[in-house]
Amino acid sequence: MENGAAPTAKPVIVAIDGPSGTGKSSTSKAVAAQLGLSYLDTGAQYRAITWWMVHNGIDLADPTAVAAVAGKPEIVSGTDPSAPTITVDGVDVAAPIRTQEVTSRVSAVSAVPEVRTRITELQRSLAAGAERGIVVEGRDIGTTVLPDADLKVFLTASPEARAARRSGELKGADLHATREALVKRDAADSSRKTSPLAKADDAVEVDTTELTLAQVIECVVTLVEEKRAAK
Ligand code: C5P
Repeated sequence: MENGAAPTAKPVIVAIDGPSGTGKSSTSKAVAAQLGLSYLDTGAQYRAITWWMVHNGIDLADPTAVAAVAGKPEIVSGTDPSAPTITVDGVDVAAPIRTQEVTSRVSAVSAVPEVRTRITELQRSLAAGAERGIVVEGRDIGTTVLPDADLKVFLTASPEARAARRSGELKGADLHATREALVKRDAADSSRKTSPLAKADDAVEVDTTELTLAQVIECVVTLVEEKRAAK
């Protein structure tokens, strides 16, 4: 069927987790577009709340200060995979959330339980409202946010491959520094107490080190189609 499922098909929920630079965003967007599903970048939500905290002078080294204002910003995600959007209190923050300043601070903010509770609620309500289904990418989607997802995928790749992809995206950023920053952020995300980056027991692990993006997309599309056929 062209452009995904028939309107009567049951919604399908797909969780795609993994560390940075594994191709999560590109894969998730393409799979959603190909199958006619919605798409949610949960990293963008954590970046958005971090941007708001930086913008408002909140002391990010103080988890109590972060927790106290976690409910304040209104974060809205547009879930069309061909044009995903993100706003905070009505401001388009798609560009500022990708700055080095936000990237280097997001792990501290996302480790605060009150922040996670707030963002997790938003994620669950978006997933519940997606009529045809949704591809949700992040770190804890299969383990915590949507433990009943129809399909869980955990993407991995060697640190070298991940750093090479990220510095390509950052237009020639220093490879060594990019690798160090990635490893540091993954270590923080994996070791935090509240829903760390982790593979769910029932997730399918795909090592993308030697695969092209097209191969990863094809692999995940096939896995979704199989799940959908079995529903
Ligand atoms: O995916 P991205 O690199 O944009 O994610 C930015 C940060 O958001 C991660 O390093 C992590 O701290 C946080 N994050 C998270 N849980 C998710 C998605 C992202 O804690 N589900």
